[in-house]
Amino acid sequence: MSELVINNLCVSVEDVKILKGVDLTIKAGEVHTIMGPNGTGKSTLSYALMGHPSYEVTGGEVYLDGKDILELEPDERSQLGLFLAFQYPVAIPGVSVANFLRTALNAHRKAHDPEDKGISIPDFRKLLREKMAMLQMEPAFAGRYLNDGFSGGEKKRVEVLQMAVLEPKFAILDETDSGLDIDALQVVANGVNATRDSERGVLIITHYQRILNYIKPDYVHVMLDGRIVESDGPELALRLEEEGYGWVRNKYASET
Ligand code: ADP
Ligand code: MG
Repeated sequence: MSELVINNLCVSVEDVKILKGVDLTIKAGEVHTIMGPNGTGKSTLSYALMGHPSYEVTGGEVYLDGKDILELEPDERSQLGLFLAFQYPVAIPGVSVANFLRTALNAHRKAHDPEDKGISIPDFRKLLREKMAMLQMEPAFAGRYLNDGFSGGEKKRVEVLQMAVLEPKFAILDETDSGLDIDALQVVANGVNATRDSERGVLIITHYQRILNYIKPDYVHVMLDGRIVESDGPELALRLEEEGYGWVRNKYASET
């Protein structure tokens, strides 16, 4: 059974301590959510897990299926099955969505089998058509340059499209819901639900409860000031929606 284990992870950005000991275990088949106010370190966690060079791990461990990944490059982590949908996806003018996705898919295939010659163009077109239909994207979209002039909602759809094509073991979605109108939110949530699988773990990072009306998490965690301070079932998200984060802050402040 696949497992992502985060032990006492401490991360600094420009010598400022942001994550102060995060513990979290996600098993295949589970959907976890991390909620929390802005600036508490949610994106820092996702970047550190992927191996962004600006995020310095100063302590702790991260294991993917028993393998310590902290010394690995981002592409090696990706090949092991870790995936991050960015909160702020970057544009790559000159590289089409289709080319980008085919290159990423082929790199993964080659990492698993050095003899692999890559997916054939017709097979890839078919795969891409299916996944794009699932996300209600026009086929012409595949020919556009990656995120170049895309709306917020289009960028988020491309992130989920990438996840659907790569079929990672563990997917982290960093505020994939932010900036989406209700229709786009539903489409993106449907896309995530369609890729939900007993073999795949998912971590949804979000500021708002509303995406959880469409994607039902197994566990909800609250991050405050670089730590996970509260964990429970989906009912925790509802309480946060109704009462905000104040009570968690108070509880946490009185314990320390
Ligand atoms: P969240 O995603 O929960 O809103 P972040 O992880 O983005 O929070 O940010 C946590 C803290 O780390 C903030 O105080 C933010 O200013 C700081 N931080 C994050 N990334 C950087 C960076 N690249 N350079 C400087 N400070 C950063
Ligand atoms: Mg963030």
